Formats: sequence, C-alpha cells, structure tokens
Amino acid sequence: MRIQCGTILAAAVGFAAFGDSLDNIGDVRLKGRFGERLDAMIEKHVAARDVDYITAPFMEKTETKGWWQTEFWGKWMHSAVPYAKLELESGVGERLKSNVERGIERMLASQEPCGYIGNYPDALRCGEGWDVWGIKYTLMGFLHYYDWKCKVESEKCKVEADAALAAAKKLCDYVIGEIGQNGKRGRELWQTGNWSGYASSSILEPVVWLYKRTNDKKYLDFAAYIVEGMTKPEKGPRLIDLALKGVSVADRNDANFNDGDEWSYVCKHGRSKAYEMMSCYQGLLEYVEVVKNENSTLQLQLETPTKLLKAAVMTAEDIVKEEVNLAGGCASSEAWFHGAKKQHLPYIHLQETCVTTTWMRFCEKLLEVTDDPKWADQIERTFYNAYLGALRSDGGEFAAYTPLTGNRWHGMNHCFMHTDCCTANGPRGFLCFLKELFTTRGDAATFNFYSSALVKGELSNGRKVAFDMYSLYPRTDYVRIVSHTEGAAPVRLRIPAWSAKTEVKLNGKVLDGVAAGSYFTIERDWKLGDIVELKFDMPVVAHTLDHHVAFTRGPVLLARDSRFADGDLTEPFRHGIKDGQIMPTFAAVRTPSDDIWMAFSATLPIGSHTENPEARNPATVFFCDYASAGNTWTRANFYRTWFPVEYGNNE
Ligand SMILES: [Zn+2]
Repeated sequence: MRIQCGTILAAAVGFAAFGDSLDNIGDVRLKGRFGERLDAMIEKHVAARDVDYITAPFMEKTETKGWWQTEFWGKWMHSAVPYAKLELESGVGERLKSNVERGIERMLASQEPCGYIGNYPDALRCGEGWDVWGIKYTLMGFLHYYDWKCKVESEKCKVEADAALAAAKKLCDYVIGEIGQNGKRGRELWQTGNWSGYASSSILEPVVWLYKRTNDKKYLDFAAYIVEGMTKPEKGPRLIDLALKGVSVADRNDANFNDGDEWSYVCKHGRSKAYEMMSCYQGLLEYVEVVKNENSTLQLQLETPTKLLKAAVMTAEDIVKEEVNLAGGCASSEAWFHGAKKQHLPYIHLQETCVTTTWMRFCEKLLEVTDDPKWADQIERTFYNAYLGALRSDGGEFAAYTPLTGNRWHGMNHCFMHTDCCTANGPRGFLCFLKELFTTRGDAATFNFYSSALVKGELSNGRKVAFDMYSLYPRTDYVRIVSHTEGAAPVRLRIPAWSAKTEVKLNGKVLDGVAAGSYFTIERDWKLGDIVELKFDMPVVAHTLDHHVAFTRGPVLLARDSRFADGDLTEPFRHGIKDGQIMPTFAAVRTPSDDIWMAFSATLPIGSHTENPEARNPATVFFCDYASAGNTWTRANFYRTWFPVEYGNNE
C-alpha cells in the first residue's frame, strides 16, 4: 500500500467523453436529506415546468422590447436532461422525458429556413437586447439533447440526435452569417446585446461544444473570432487585459458608465454584471481546453491559451477575495461591488440565484481544468449556504435574491411571463454539486464532497470503482466510506482548507500526511468492505468586519432566527471578539423542527450593560445554519448573520 499526499498535476487529468460541461453526472445516488431535497426539486420544480409555455415565445415571435424570453427553454434543458437520465426509472423521469421530447419537437418546428430560432422580428435580430443570449441557451438545449440521444443505441435515437445537431449547426451558421466575421449585419458580435458585449460573447461556451461534436473548423474559427472580440476592442468585454492587469471585477466599468440609472443592470455598457461576466469566462475555459491541442487560423494571432487561463483564474481569485461573502454568495443588484467588505450591511438585491449558480458553474469548470481543490471548497460553501438558502425546503421554488440578514421571499416575473431567470437557473446549481461529488476523471477516483450516497464510476484504465458513503456532514464532522471496489485504484479525498487537523483512517488505522487544502490520495489494492473514515476539524469560528461579527462552522454560516424567540436579533455584542477566534461556547443541540437542519446553543457576551454583575453575565441564544434560517418564507420569520459589536469609547 502506498499513501500519497498532494495534488495530481492537471496535466495528468484526462477527460471522458466530450470532456466539457455537458458531460454526464457520474453515477451518484444521493441519499438522506440531500437526496430527498434533490428528488423534491426535480419533481416539484424541473418536472413541473410547462414546456409549452416556455417554448411559446419561439412560436409567437412577438418580441419588440429587447427582452429575454428565449433563455428559459435552454436553461431548463440544462437541468431537465441530466435529471431525466437520473430519474429514468421513475414516473418523474418519464414525465421529464416526455416534456423534453415535446420541447424539442416544438423548437425544431419553430426554426426558420434561414436557421434562426428565437422571438425577435428580423429587423431587431442579432442586435441590441438579448437575442444572441437567447440563441446561446437554445444551442445549449439542443446539445444537451444531442449528447443524451447519442449515448442510447437505437436507430430512433440516432435520428433524433442528428436532427438536434443539425438544428444547432444551422442556428450557429445563422449567427455566423449575421454577426460573424464580415457578417451581413455589419457589426461585430461583441457590439450586440448588453454589458459591453458580455451577454452575446458568452455564446462562446456552446460554440466550443458544437465544435467538439462536429469537428467542423468553421466553429473553431468562430470561437476564435468571439475570443478576439472579448479581448481586443477598447469598448468590448476586455476579459483578458483588465484581468491580467489585476483590475478587480467591480472596477472594470468604463469611466463614463452611469450606474445611478435604475435600469443599469440591463444597460448596454458597463462591465460589472456578475452572471454575464462569469459566463464568458466559462466559455473561455472551454476554448482553452480545445486550442491547447489545436490550431485555428485565427487562434495563432490571439493570446496564448496559458494567458487566457491565467486571466480566468486571476478573475476567480479576485472574486473570492473581493466579492464572495461567508454564505458563498455574491453581487448586489446582480453586479460586482467589492461586496466581501460590505457584507455586514443591508445591500439591495443580494445574491441573485443566477449569480450563485453561475459562480458554482465557473468554479466547477476551474476545478476540472486546474484540478485545484480550492475551487471545490468554493462550490461547497456556496452550495450549503447561498444555494440551499435560495431553494424553498419543499423543492418547488427558488428565490431571486437572498439577503444575509432579513427574510426570504418569492422571486419575480420576467418579460411578461410567469417565470424568471433564477427559476430557470436554479436547478443547474445542484448539478455542480452532484457532478463533482465523486469523479473518475483521469486515473483517480476523487471524492470532492461528502454526503450519504452510493457512487460508481470507471477509471480511464477500465477499472470499475464503487463506494457507499454515509455521512451527516456538515451537520456532523464524520464521514464513513465503504469500498465496493476490488483491485488497485488511487482514491483521492478532498481535505477542505478550513479543516486544520483532519483525521483519515483506513480500516481503523490512522494515516499520515493529511494536509488541509489538498487532495489526500490512498493508493491501494481495494478489498470489498474496506472502510475509510474522515473526521474534520470544524469548531465555530468568529469573523469580524467593521464592528460586526459573524460565525461559521466548517463550510456553514450560522444565523440567529426569530423562530427561536430568544431575544432581539439586533442586540449588539460587547467588544473584544477577535477575527478568527475559536468559539468553544457553541454546542450542537437538537433541532426544534424538521425545517431546521442544524441548531446550536451559544453563551455569548451580548448586551452593553456591564454596570452591575448580573448584566455582565453572557446570554444564551440559538443559531441555525444559514440555509435553514428564514425558510418558512414569511415576513415574520426574520434572521440575521452579521451582528453589531459595540464601540469602545476610544474607537
Ligand atoms: Zn436571475
């Protein structure tokens, strides 16, 4: 038996199938609380979508206001197809499958002879507004369907797959003809849509997917043209030079950008829109993976792939440092605002679910490309806090915004429809967690997340691996993994950066060399019934910021909730709590109801009165996890994560 510690080099990590974000969820069967939550979301949210309703705009073609009705179907397909595969054996799976087929039938029928699929009249196509953005999601929808049908061996599926791919090619050819190099419309792709070209340029992601599936050089050249537009024009997205100069994401707007405008979040100029910016980097990372091995006629004149990768990584690192809060969420009014340093204050429209989901997707792609577990740390924190906080506990609905202090509430209606961007995006976030929980990329089986689940996979050498994992993590600190694998295979365990002293045992024996913030590898000839156990180091830690304090335990942000009825949530703390201080007074207690996932009592220095001995005593109050806080979705159910700390008279 050989034990290794550390990270397998990214270069050694290969990619299965097409090797991009469309790839299958591995064979992961979640159990326990998260399995139930996922099943509920699939049944009540994804399978409950009215596919006729979200495809109707493509038939009606009545858009004149430059809105985004055409994004809803493609986003829905992004989760409907993988979840249909996951649930295929059940009635819900059948319902999803027939909805997917119905949608494809309607979308194919809506394609015009010129290739266009959308709802804009000819004069407004590929111009201002969200037409190209909608086309991006339509391409994604077709390609998800294509991949699914390709994997089923039947003549019928082959015909269906070919039809979807042909529609995607024709649609992409239409865009190339209109706003590609020397396109008919006489404008560049980056000059269309909103946010200095972010929205339209993010079409790069499915264009690269299309190239990988067709091997048609035309699409690689189009991708290179999009990257050039993202990179070079002074007024364009400038995703490379500004990133490499170290300009923070919130500071990339043009000097004349007017962010006082009420509608600034859909404005034409400006570079601070979080979702659209991250979507562009997602496409850039797909592009980097392709061009590092191939030459496009245009690619040679462009920045090198290494530079593109560096710009994406530097941007994501800047987002972690400047924007992501303790709940793993970010953005106010959907825009960057140096939010990490302002998270104790009540900012407008915090943590849009689209931003939360896209941040998870961006980190997922970075994890795939760099094999650096710090991106899994980010996904995990976002999933357990901002993401699950936005998902109603019955699985039926996503909030549009979720404040760090306040109450939870329903989302919005967009574009005169009874749906919105966050409703469409929400279910895609759970996929990031599922896809990266257990992977067999390259020649190692990797556990990134820990939750009760049955996991299976196949390594590149054909070795089949399977494990049964039991854990209430992160409610508890313990994980038990039982091997259903026979034979030699490296198994990697992600050790979170926040867990200073993690204990790993194999068949009861403690293993050496476990380091926080890395993968710990066990190379072994596995036997059935081998047991791996992990015990994380997760004390409650205080975080201070500008006379405020918040508390985390492992990846989970803690909150006080009005349901505990344990005093005024605005009561200040006495000064003296230090940043990073371990808080031994927190103790796990039984939760008062199934609605609340974890609960803690804590005896803390709350209240300013110290003039008599009784008032100097600490007070005992209760906390729950941020995702459970306020989850009755009523105005009366108030919660708070950042607490004021009193000033001393010399401060
Ligand atoms: Zn949204």
